[in-house]
Amino acid sequence: MTQLDDAGQTTHNNTQLAQTNSTTLDDPSLNTLSDEDIGTIDWDAPESRGGSGGYTPQVYPGIHNFLFALEDKDPFETREYTTKDGTQVKDFTVNHKGTVSYTNAEGEQKESTIRFNQVGFHRSPKMIAKIMNSRGGELLRTLGINLGNNVNKAAVEQALREADGRTMGRGVVNWEAYCKDCKQVVSTNANTKRGDARWPKGTDGKYVTDVICPKCGAALNGRERITDYKLPQV
Ligand SMILES: [Zn+2]
Repeated sequence: MTQLDDAGQTTHNNTQLAQTNSTTLDDPSLNTLSDEDIGTIDWDAPESRGGSGGYTPQVYPGIHNFLFALEDKDPFETREYTTKDGTQVKDFTVNHKGTVSYTNAEGEQKESTIRFNQVGFHRSPKMIAKIMNSRGGELLRTLGINLGNNVNKAAVEQALREADGRTMGRGVVNWEAYCKDCKQVVSTNANTKRGDARWPKGTDGKYVTDVICPKCGAALNGRERITDYKLPQV
């Protein structure tokens, strides 16, 4: 009951707010929306690019400090899959954000939050033999979280909830774009053996911000990704 009342109250307040705003405008007749009014549609507008409004990445590829935070939805999950050699894997996975400070072309200090970085904790026998950590392990290390032998879901979850929004890490930022039609990845960290295309550079030797699919020529949305984690700075 209480929740219902609260919801009703919120709606009421919003309505009042909208009414108050409309009466303060210079010419209310131009701005007051009727219930039937849903705005306009431009038939000749350019085709949308994946709904994000043509986002181009802001944080230049390279090593950056980032403020760690858990993703809002499902920060912890277990992905199940079968590896190439037929091993069934239950991969405990963390989805996280990293907020990076950077200087833009105008010399202004800006912040950008890199979303949907996904790291798993599965470590195959091959990785162990090569003394390679999982990406999840690398994330914990860059955040300075050493759980010793106490590496289990509950301990990792608790440690990362404590680090959420508080702890800095250091990672490698790369740009990645994907053409759904051609299943083509374009990346500043291209795995060319797997068929990824290299992200193009301009005549100044810097990565261009607008990227197209090398197969079909469609304009693609690039986005930043934290692809590797560095040792914490001491
Ligand atoms: Zn394409």
